[in-house]
Amino acid sequence: MSSIDLHVHTTASDGTYTPTGAVREALGKKLAILGIADHDTTGGVREAEEAARGTALALVPGVELSVGAEEYEIHVLGYFIDPDHAGLQDVLLRLRGARDLRNERIVARLRELGAPVDLGRVREIAGDGSVGRPHIAKALVEAGHVASQGKAFGRFLARGKPGYVGRERLSPAGAAEAIHDAGGIPVLAHPGKLGSRRRIEELLAAGMAGVEAFHSDHDEAQVGLLLSIAEEGGLLVTGGTDSHGPDSDRPIEIGSVDVPEWVGQRLLEKAPSGWAAAS
Ligand SMILES: [Zn+2]
Ligand SMILES: [Zn+2]
Repeated sequence: MSSIDLHVHTTASDGTYTPTGAVREALGKKLAILGIADHDTTGGVREAEEAARGTALALVPGVELSVGAEEYEIHVLGYFIDPDHAGLQDVLLRLRGARDLRNERIVARLRELGAPVDLGRVREIAGDGSVGRPHIAKALVEAGHVASQGKAFGRFLARGKPGYVGRERLSPAGAAEAIHDAGGIPVLAHPGKLGSRRRIEELLAAGMAGVEAFHSDHDEAQVGLLLSIAEEGGLLVTGGTDSHGPDSDRPIEIGSVDVPEWVGQRLLEKAPSGWAAAS
């Protein structure tokens, strides 16, 4: 157990704790510092700040941006961002909208290709989850255009097929800039799985001020590598569970990743002057 958890999701994105619930859980576990970092939204920050006001818990406002790097997605954390910053909100809106827009474009493309599906039906198939290509594939099967979901990808939806539409992505440098502009500190999230030191350092060079070394997915060797990269580059170190709350796909408990106290102290030293006054 640790007294610091800088990476927690709430119902503002895909977590199952409400922002107030996450703060209560952190208080119950006697945490000293809690960071709220929802995917592509700051919608939970104000409520969490309110819930933490007057308590012993230091609430760090944060966000976790989805960023495109080459073929895959990486995440960039932003700490101490102004959650209401207009420029950041613009970027977040675009990130949240990119997925919806992409689905609309795929469906339009399919119509042109003579394999129409109804977007409303696609949304129904997805249920509570966010809509994506697998749901469009199911709709294609339902509508009788293909015999199986695999065929839907093979004929239409896979990369390079006529119904494929790429997603608009934010670059690592764009993410770092948006976070900077909103007064925040950009931190490369859970880079352990990115593999080589060189790749990680390349991404950090896109304007990151810190690296998330402690994370529920990182083993000891990865933590060691990231700490040494941070030291060499003079970067801030952060850490957290990436808890998405109970009954989620990441039901790891808040505070259950061992984050050393110096990590929290050094981050709080970088807090903007307005932050201390607000808490
Ligand atoms: Zn992430
Ligand atoms: Zn996360």
